[in-house]
Amino acid sequence: MSVCDLAPGYIRAIAPYQPGKPISELAREMGMDEVRIIKLASNENPRGVSPLARRAIEAALPELARYPDGNGFELKQALSRRHGIPQERIVLGNGSNDVLEMAARAFLAPGLAAIYSQHAFAVYPLAVQAAGATGIEVPARDYSHDLAGMRRAVTPATRLVFIANPNNPTGTLVPARELEAFIAGLPREVLVVLDEAYNEYLAPEHRSDTIAWVKRFPNLVVTRTFSKVYGLAGLRVGYALAAAGVADLMNRVRQPFNVNSIGLAAAAAALDDMEFVARSYAENLNGMRQLEEGARRLGLDYIASYGNFLAIKVGKAAEIFKRLLRRGVIVRPVGGYGLPEHLRVTVGTAAENEKFLAALAASLRE
Ligand code: PMP
Repeated sequence: MSVCDLAPGYIRAIAPYQPGKPISELAREMGMDEVRIIKLASNENPRGVSPLARRAIEAALPELARYPDGNGFELKQALSRRHGIPQERIVLGNGSNDVLEMAARAFLAPGLAAIYSQHAFAVYPLAVQAAGATGIEVPARDYSHDLAGMRRAVTPATRLVFIANPNNPTGTLVPARELEAFIAGLPREVLVVLDEAYNEYLAPEHRSDTIAWVKRFPNLVVTRTFSKVYGLAGLRVGYALAAAGVADLMNRVRQPFNVNSIGLAAAAAALDDMEFVARSYAENLNGMRQLEEGARRLGLDYIASYGNFLAIKVGKAAEIFKRLLRRGVIVRPVGGYGLPEHLRVTVGTAAENEKFLAALAASLRE
């Protein structure tokens, strides 16, 4: 018997997260020039890095020999001002992935349970399983969270409910009023982790003041990220807002220097780059229309999306995915999310969207 056989069964049973294929990997595999490849597979911002963040990154370089501020004071101060929430209610993460995992580590253990929806973000089951707890997947309704079903799944062992709003990979949005009623109707011993990674892409009429809810509901954690509209996916910065006691517990399982110094500086600057965010938002709207129209022209259904990506029903998605790769286009197959007929494509620049649609048309004909 090896040491690996003695690792807890729930760890050995983890199926690793499947990230989007990097451009460099496809270039190596296909002997293709990297500049001919487009990646629309990880819901990144096609505008790149905000100019203010870039300047902050350059200014932070001379201090790289030092450890970062383990408490992230300046970024927390910026977030505190932006959201009107005291610093003791903020938890910083190495991406929002990190804070999702902290919630699971702080509140779950073998014998306890967490609830999430079918087709929801893949990190929830992984984080729950790594904590040795039981994951309960509630069937989706019209690809979206079935809140009534999730409420019925709550038992005395339930400690966490994960909700992605908008959800990845479906792009669906649970209306604010329904969500608020759901949280209000839960036992206070059950923590809701409301994952708002794509919040900044919501149209004003679909936004709701979920941060005000954090002050009303002591069992609510809202998570956000700098990886999407703020264009800093490579630096890995995210955060959670919660009641002070919940934030304190999450901070206890946090690595001391989990967010690096460049990330801290860049995120604080990106938060102030209103113009970059506004442009990213507007270009995403245009790009989404372009992809929707393109899909319609090809006679394909898609799931109406509130994020920066679109799940298009292409039929034999695993095969179409491979044909797209041969044309230098990386998208995301979502069979692992229970959607074997869909491909998820990130909204890119107008030129990238055009290239994707042309490659998709050719791949469907092949
Ligand atoms: N939540 C959702 C719903 C996501 O789609 C993602 C990124 N794919 C994340 C969280 C994590 O992103 P990050 O760790 O880069 O903040």
